[in-house]
Amino acid sequence: MNNAEFRTHAHALADWMADYLESIEARRVTPAVAPGDLRRALPAEAPEGAEPFDAIWRDFESLVMPGMTHWQHPGWMAYFPGNASPPAVLGEMVAAVLATNVMSWQTAPAATELEQVTLDWLRRLVGLPDGFTGVIQDTASTSTLVALLSARERATGGAFGREGAAAGEAPRLVAYASAEAHSSVPKAARLAGFGEDRLRRVPVDHRFALRADELGRMMDADRAAGLIPACVVATAGTTNSTAVDPVAAVAELCERHGAWLHVDAAYAGTAAICPEFRWVLDGCGRADSLVFNPHKWMLVNFDCSTYFVRDVRHLTATFGTTPAYLRGAYDEEVANYRDWGIPLGRRFRALKLWFVLRSHGAEGIREHVRRTIGQARRLAAGAAAEPGWHVVAPAELGLVCLRFQPDGMDDAAADELNRRALAAVNAAGRYHLTGTILGGRQVIRVALGGRLTEERHVEGVWGELRGAVSGER
Ligand SMILES: *Cc1c(COP(=O)(O)O)cnc(C)c1O
Repeated sequence: MNNAEFRTHAHALADWMADYLESIEARRVTPAVAPGDLRRALPAEAPEGAEPFDAIWRDFESLVMPGMTHWQHPGWMAYFPGNASPPAVLGEMVAAVLATNVMSWQTAPAATELEQVTLDWLRRLVGLPDGFTGVIQDTASTSTLVALLSARERATGGAFGREGAAAGEAPRLVAYASAEAHSSVPKAARLAGFGEDRLRRVPVDHRFALRADELGRMMDADRAAGLIPACVVATAGTTNSTAVDPVAAVAELCERHGAWLHVDAAYAGTAAICPEFRWVLDGCGRADSLVFNPHKWMLVNFDCSTYFVRDVRHLTATFGTTPAYLRGAYDEEVANYRDWGIPLGRRFRALKLWFVLRSHGAEGIREHVRRTIGQARRLAAGAAAEPGWHVVAPAELGLVCLRFQPDGMDDAAADELNRRALAAVNAAGRYHLTGTILGGRQVIRVALGGRLTEERHVEGVWGELRGAVSGER
C-alpha cells in the first residue's frame, strides 16, 4: 500500500467509523454466532501474494463484522462500560501512525512528558495528594501485579527479586484482599510468588465491603505465627456490586504492620472526578499505590489504566534495568518508563488521554459520571418499588444489582428464574447484561455508564426484565 492508497483508504475509513457510530443502535449488541464460525470461513494459510485492500475490507465487512460484540452500543450494560469516545479514537489513530515506543525519554521525549503532565492532571482531578506519581499501564490486572511485586520487594529489602528463594523471605509473606476482590488479585498473588494460599480472603459486611476488624485479626494472627503481612489490596468499587472497602481503616492496619496498601479502583476511580463522589477514594491518600481505569468509565478507549504510587522509588527499585544498549544522556533527569513497570516497549497512550481530557474537559467527564449515576438511581428506585424485585446491593454508582424473588418463592427457584430472565433479555439482542453471584445467590447486573446510553435505554432494559419474569409471581 503506497501513501496515495493509504490516504484514500484512511478517508474512507473515517466515514465508515462515523457511520458505524451513527447507526450502531440498529445492530444486535451481541452477534448470533457459534464457536468456530469465523475460523471455518477463513483459509488455513496466510496469502502468498499481495491482496488489494478492497478485498480485505470486503471480507472484514462480510465475515468479521457479523461476529463482533458491540461495546459502544447503547444497550451494552454488561461487565463494566468500555467507552471509546471520538477524541480517544482520534488519539489512537495518531499514536498508530507515529508508532513511537515510549520506553524511555530518549526514545519518546514529548510522549514521556505528555504522560507525566496528563497523569498529574488526573491525580489532581481525583484528589490524590501531592507526591503521588502516575504512570499508564495496560490494565488494572498488570497494575495490581506491579503493586504486589513492589510490596514483595519492599518487604524483603529487594532480596527476593535478586537472590530468589535463597533469601528465604517470600514464603513468609502474606497478602490480603476481601472475598469480593477481583480475580486479578489472586492471579497477581500467584504470579508475584505469594502463592494463592498466602492470599487471605477477608470476609465482607452486609454491604459487601471488607471488614476491617476481621482484617486486623488476620494480620495479628499471621504476625503471631511468624509470617509477614506484606500487602493489602483494598477495593474501591468491586466488580460484583461496586462495594467500597473502608480504606482509611485498612490504611491504619497497614501502617501498624508496615504492609503495602494497594487500592483497586479500576471502575469507580472515575467517579472521584466529581466532588460529590470523591468519597469513593476516601483514605486513598494513605495508600502506597492505586489503580483506576480511564478505559472503563472515563471515555478513553481500551487500553489505558492509570497507576499511581506514593513513592516512585519503589517502582524503579523493583523494575529498573539499565543495560548498556538502553542508556541515555539524560537518565538522571528524566522519567524512563521502562523502569516503572513490566514491559520495555510501551504504546503512546497519553495522547488519547490528553485528547479526551481537553475535548470533554473535566466538566464534560463529570457530566458523564453524573448522568450515569442518575440513570442508575432511577432504575434502582423503580425496581425497589416494584413487587417481587429487589435491589440487592447499594446502587451508589453506575451499577444496579437486581434480583426477582416474589414472596414465597424459594431461593433455588429464584436463582433459576433470574438466570432465565437474564438469558431471555440477552437473546433478544437489544441489551446485553451479565449476572453474578452475590451473597450466594444469582443476581442480574445492570452496568450503566455507556457514552451513548440514554434514559430511554434504561427504561427499555427495565421493561424487558419485567417482561421476562411476568407470569412468574
Ligand atoms: C475491571 C476490573 C479489573 C480488571 O481490569 P483490567 O484493566 O481488565 O485488568 C480489576 N479490578 C476491578 C475492581 C475491576 O472492576
